Amino acid sequence: MSRYRSLPHLAEQIEGVARAGKQVVLTPETARLVAAALKAFSTNPKADTIAAAVCMSRQRCTEPCFRCSGIANLVQQIYENPERAFMPEFKGDKR
Ligand SMILES: [Zn+2]
Repeated sequence: MSRYRSLPHLAEQIEGVARAGKQVVLTPETARLVAAALKAFSTNPKADTIAAAVCMSRQRCTEPCFRCSGIANLVQQIYENPERAFMPEFKGDKR
């Protein structure tokens, strides 16, 4: 049975052990989970790839269109700083 409830909980446990100056030891199962999380974290899709994935036109854009490029830029910004997704100016709110 795992000793963590979720990935954030696991991260907190690892941080706590590291902060205490102790060596972090992971079971093979947890190490695989951490490796998968690191791979996902380090994934930084290119704007053209995102644009191709989100394109809603029937023919799919051969070159990213303005709309798809805009969405791709927003997604890239969220990858860089997830908190931005909750900022009013990020959503185009001009209040
Ligand atoms: Zn498009």
